[in-house]
Amino acid sequence: MRSRRMMLFCGFVVAGVSLLNAGNQAPRAAGPITLFEGARLIVGDGSASIESSAFVVQNDRFTTIGRKGQVQPPAGAVRVDLGGKSVMPALVDAHVHLGYRKGLSFTADNYTRETLLDTLDRFAYYGVAAVLEAGTGRGDLPFQVRNEARSGARYLTAGRGFAMPNAGPGVPMRDAAYGVTTEAEARKYVEKLAAKRPDLIKIWVDDRNRTVEKLKPNLYRAIIDEAHKHRLRVMAHIANLDDAKDLLRAGIDGFSHVVRDRDIDEELLAMLEQRRHVFFTETLWSERRAIYGSKPAWIDEPILTATFSAEELRQLADSFAPAVPEESQASARRLLRNVGKLNAAGVKLGLGTDTGGVSGGQYFGLASQMELELLVKAGLTPAQAITAATRNSAEILGLDQLGTVAAGKSADFIVLDANPLDDIANARRISNVYLRGIELNRAGLKARWAPSQTR
Ligand SMILES: [Zn+2]
Repeated sequence: MRSRRMMLFCGFVVAGVSLLNAGNQAPRAAGPITLFEGARLIVGDGSASIESSAFVVQNDRFTTIGRKGQVQPPAGAVRVDLGGKSVMPALVDAHVHLGYRKGLSFTADNYTRETLLDTLDRFAYYGVAAVLEAGTGRGDLPFQVRNEARSGARYLTAGRGFAMPNAGPGVPMRDAAYGVTTEAEARKYVEKLAAKRPDLIKIWVDDRNRTVEKLKPNLYRAIIDEAHKHRLRVMAHIANLDDAKDLLRAGIDGFSHVVRDRDIDEELLAMLEQRRHVFFTETLWSERRAIYGSKPAWIDEPILTATFSAEELRQLADSFAPAVPEESQASARRLLRNVGKLNAAGVKLGLGTDTGGVSGGQYFGLASQMELELLVKAGLTPAQAITAATRNSAEILGLDQLGTVAAGKSADFIVLDANPLDDIANARRISNVYLRGIELNRAGLKARWAPSQTR
């Protein structure tokens, strides 16, 4: 079922094969062919980069990947010289919350089509090709936007997640989740949601420092079991080591955060060793204040002024100003340690930021980029961070057309002015972004946002 849905979702870019394509766009037998030459090519799977590459994009796909001088341009191909540049796959952010934050406002009233589309453009500007709305979707709108043929970042959704009543995501997103109290109710809602084919199912297993009731083990077992019957995977919001272990026993497929209450132990690593498909998104961005400790230099990078107003940037800068209590700094260090341990154990790490949620703020796109840098702080090499953010995240979301630069994949890539393997900060030195083989009009987006940037 998942693969059928993915065909529908991705189908509009595959000429002539999809239902979505029928009636509004003629199939293209042949189309523009471009040979990109000379860039350092980072494939996205952790393999050695190709120092002077050549690759062909036809319509929306990569068709040939190789070395400059060895790839013959097809007849009629346009040549693009990328000498001195670096190319990497576009990013995939597998944990965001869209529709609530718009500039400085944070309310469910913002949850409109216009907000969703504008936010997806903001992700695209920073080189993000796809995002997953992690369980705070409202009504049918996210599913409608997901299935539309359009430019910008792809939008995947978990629809409404699951928690005890009034105990899921933070306000103002709280009412988006299903509140469940019995196994029968849990199964009924999973069945209802499954009819819409969400890309994952999200559950919250967290008492938020004893302020809400944590989802009970018998209820999450019912949700996971029912989801699996519908061939849907379940991703859990957690904070605690013990909950992570019990969720693994219950058959959980992934975690939207890393264990935060204690150091990860050998028992957890052994359980994960037995379950190699289980993934984590780390959401280090949410802990940025404690991790950085003081105002980071990247606040002054020009890319930020393209997408955020002066007031948003002032607030972001100020958020780093008051000294973070030692206790928070210690827990941030533990979080980084835990991410490092998972990475060293070969656990599947994807990129997820929680942008748009309570702790993630409205820094759409920027946060996905900064998460790369934070993963490197946790001990990943730049190449590992890039693989997590590209191939792994695409795998987590079942996006088999994204994640690496390889023949047959969708041509979604970022052209950089400097090598991100030397310094992950170079992943933000974006020259161009291509989504589905088309260069994103970043100057146009910047101009569209400019009037509101002066507030
Ligand atoms: Zn979240």
